[in-house]
Amino acid sequence: MDFTPNPDHEAIADAVDRVCAQYDDTYWMDKDEKHEFPWEFYKSMADGGWLGIVIPEEYGGGGQGITEGAIVLNRIAASGAGMNGCTALHLTMFGLNPVVKFGNDQLKSTFLPRAATGDLHVAFGVTEPDAGTDTSRITTRAVEDGMGGWIVSGRKIWTSKALESEVVLLLVRTDGEPGQGFGGLTLFLADLDRDYCDIRPIPKVGRNAVASCEVFYDEMPVEGWRMVGERGKGFHHILHGLNPERILLANVACGIGEAAIRRAVNYANERSVFGRLIGANQAISHPLAQAHMQLKAAMQMAALAAWRYDNGLECGEQANTAKYLAAEASYFAADQALQTHGGLGYASEYHVERYWREARLQRIAPVSQEMTCNFIAQNVLGLPRSY
Ligand SMILES: Cc1cc2nc3c(=O)[nH]c(=O)nc-3n(C[C@H](O)[C@H](O)[C@H](O)COP(=O)(O)OP(=O)(O)OC[C@H]3O[C@@H](n4cnc5c(N)ncnc54)[C@H](O)[C@@H]3O)c2cc1C
Repeated sequence: MDFTPNPDHEAIADAVDRVCAQYDDTYWMDKDEKHEFPWEFYKSMADGGWLGIVIPEEYGGGGQGITEGAIVLNRIAASGAGMNGCTALHLTMFGLNPVVKFGNDQLKSTFLPRAATGDLHVAFGVTEPDAGTDTSRITTRAVEDGMGGWIVSGRKIWTSKALESEVVLLLVRTDGEPGQGFGGLTLFLADLDRDYCDIRPIPKVGRNAVASCEVFYDEMPVEGWRMVGERGKGFHHILHGLNPERILLANVACGIGEAAIRRAVNYANERSVFGRLIGANQAISHPLAQAHMQLKAAMQMAALAAWRYDNGLECGEQANTAKYLAAEASYFAADQALQTHGGLGYASEYHVERYWREARLQRIAPVSQEMTCNFIAQNVLGLPRSY
């Protein structure tokens, strides 16, 4: 074990902190309230070269690992930008991982350099209303057009950033029937061609600077070279990216928790009731201390998972554990921050209610806590599959 501080990692964190400092909580509150994409922030991050940090150097990226990408997202979230900031860019930063790993040369050379500069906006279309967590039941279908291309029809739900995105990493059925396993699913990097798809934002609780949408595909043509990897192996190509995604999201969750604790501590050190600072009450200080410890533990697990992934080691247990612990710690921290503020915690201008709404999401998406427990019970503890 070597826990020596890494100067390169500290430099990344400091630099991202400096960019994020230009965008305070009022900026994020405003974007959230107006349901406006944070273009200014996105541009600052792109100009700083942060969007390409994990894209290979040969395509103009920074060639760094998940460890470094996670630091970027953690510092964005911890600045108070939370998921509004992270979701604005994390799909461009990391969503193309299946293309990096399995894409053909044309896909890589066409899209990765544009993602590295931040020019390309990417969405991720897997979830469907009738399939839910059981991806084997998706029904959005691609059929061959007889000229080497495909025609896609169907309906996806919760496609985040669809409004801004030029392309979507789209999992569709090319073979077989719903519920017959994962073999018939294929991945495409398709254009979100507005002539053939209808995009409707879903009104939702939080993270409102970035819409998540229902997307209806109506016989949308997709050229053959846009297939990512092999026909029928789309689900396996996506699986490859699930562990890193969990590690990144754990870092986002911990960042939100850090922002919440920071505000709570400031408030508890300023607010006097009954002639004493509220922070002097253990009913206020102990939960904040517990939240801090839980966040630190989750961050350590996330760092371990990232290190294992970057060093080519199996990391399913660590990535899932990190995501689970971080989601719980983040929500606990945000909830305690809200409680610490009393009635004003419920007021938008103190910002903790925004963190709280975002932290709640971490327990549902991109994977629910229940499915994470299923993974650990089955694959780590060796218990029977329960579903
Ligand atoms: C804001 C937001 C953004 C999102 N962005 C995207 C995106 O960009 N792209 C995308 O493809 N998807 C996206 N999603 C979808 C997200 O990944 C799913 O909502 C999530 O995986 C849960 O699936 P579901 O909503 O279909 O829940 P369901 O599968 O319907 O499950 C409902 C509940 O039942 C539980 N459950 C189901 N089966 C079991 C079981 N066997 N054992 C125990 N519990 C079970 C689940 O844990 C959950 O609590 C987003 C969702 C949200 C809310």
